[in-house]
Amino acid sequence: MTTNEQNTTEQDSHLVRLSNRQRMFLRDRLKALGFKNYRHYLLSSPAWQETKERYQASGRPQKCVVCHDPHYELHHRTYKRLGQERLDDLIPLCREHHDQVHRQEVVSLWDGHKAVRRLIRRSTAEAAQVSAGR
Ligand SMILES: [Zn+2]
Ligand SMILES: [Zn+2]
Repeated sequence: MTTNEQNTTEQDSHLVRLSNRQRMFLRDRLKALGFKNYRHYLLSSPAWQETKERYQASGRPQKCVVCHDPHYELHHRTYKRLGQERLDDLIPLCREHHDQVHRQEVVSLWDGHKAVRRLIRRSTAEAAQVSAGR
């Protein structure tokens, strides 16, 4: 279960890296949905609560896709459908890898999943090196 504390972290790390255009898109979207900001959305949107529960009840991975930590946050690959997210829009990441995704580069509204893929590739390569060294 994600806690409010984790959501706060998610909000902070998310928005710093957005381009102006993306930020404007997200702001308009939040306003249209009736939320003050992204954090407000994560903390008080019944739709988001429902989406998280729908995700947890789905057969989708319930652990960080990079390191398999069972404590995960749901990363939005896109904010396009904020408020009506498809499960495909979301990807589980532990806090550390979630932060990495957002720190790594400007996370695009349209292709945030590229950053995740790069991260997975890199971590798989590191894991392969470790097992090869054994
Ligand atoms: Zn992880
Ligand atoms: Zn995220």
